[in-house]
Amino acid sequence: MTRTDDLRSMSERWSAHNYHPLPVVISEASGAWVTDVDGRRYLDFLSAYSAMNFGHRHPRLLRVAHEQLDRVTLVSRAFDHETFGPFCRDLAQLCGKDMVLPMNTGAEAVETAIKAARKWGYRVKGVPRDEATIVVASDNFHGRTVTIVSFSTDESAREDYGPYTPGFRVVPYGDIAAMEQAIDDTTVAVLIEPVQGEAGVVVPPTGYLSGLRELCTRENVLLVADEIQSGLGRTGTTFAVEHEGVVPDVYILGKALGGGIVPLSAVVADEEVLGLFAPGTHGSTFGGNPLATAIGREVVAMLRTGELQERSRVLGEHLAQRLKELPADAVAEVRSIGLWAGVQLRPEAGRARQVSEAMQARGVLVKETHEWTVRIAPPLVIDQADLDHGLDALAETIEELRPRG
Ligand code: PLP
Repeated sequence: MTRTDDLRSMSERWSAHNYHPLPVVISEASGAWVTDVDGRRYLDFLSAYSAMNFGHRHPRLLRVAHEQLDRVTLVSRAFDHETFGPFCRDLAQLCGKDMVLPMNTGAEAVETAIKAARKWGYRVKGVPRDEATIVVASDNFHGRTVTIVSFSTDESAREDYGPYTPGFRVVPYGDIAAMEQAIDDTTVAVLIEPVQGEAGVVVPPTGYLSGLRELCTRENVLLVADEIQSGLGRTGTTFAVEHEGVVPDVYILGKALGGGIVPLSAVVADEEVLGLFAPGTHGSTFGGNPLATAIGREVVAMLRTGELQERSRVLGEHLAQRLKELPADAVAEVRSIGLWAGVQLRPEAGRARQVSEAMQARGVLVKETHEWTVRIAPPLVIDQADLDHGLDALAETIEELRPRG
């Protein structure tokens, strides 16, 4: 028995089976590469669902993390601490907004944004108490809490978790007219992913985001952009909404904000919205802790130069070009933006899981999303040679599995 087999069977035996991981047990990582417990190296083409935009153990982030570990790690929000104010200021300025409310996981930040939008609806817009509605898109993924899965359209994410939270309307993603119809006097927010990650890197039609912006302004509804997976450089810009020159009322950030070291999420908005929270109305023991905010501040500093966004844009063009060359009898569609792509397989070419497993055998880690889509999201620090290495493995895998006429 290898060490991998031993540890895999331990995980199978002792953990709940709420994931279906590839059979790799990672013990070390650096940049775009990871090493398993049996000494095999793999190229990381997933980046922990974009939490690893800066690569594994980025030296700048490790340095601030170590320094902070040696000073203070947690005080709770009962007290202020040295890195809290500077982090909030720097992140607010990166977003061009007044204020930040830090949390930990993405789902918590989404919940926070929902609370903020409802509060704004009652206090500012004048919606009658407990009647607020929020319009969301089909095939959304905003996290796993009961309220969030209440408006999921993915049955496996919802089943058995009722009763569900009311107050949400679901309309097709990319359809402005449907969104317009769903909005009424009770609507406080439109909550969308500017690019739908879990759905398979679904980029909306041109004009959708700017259309939503106009609609929300006209109807006095908050535009809330969940940039947890699409933001912080992934699409070639700091935020995916920038592709259409859109500024949402509320940004929801997470994943890469914690530098791949700690969970750190945030809601960023103007005082009109976040200024409504008073002491005792919302909180989190770990939200905005010294270690997370020290790392988050360095993440913001790295994004401020625009270097990683540019890298994502340039390498993203190369990625898109190479994915176009995949054989049309195996690949139904390729969707990509920046260093992020969804390769949608034809059913006869094999399931995305099979592709993931075959790529693992070639030393490249990708993961299927749903049955037919392979998601590609390498760390933004990857170099072109490594990117090509991963794409060669994908092309070879698809060639191997493709139907033969
Ligand atoms: N929102 C989006 C767009 C996401 O992609 C995710 C996670 O994949 C979440 C929210 C939930 O984040 P977390 O898993 O940190 O709760």
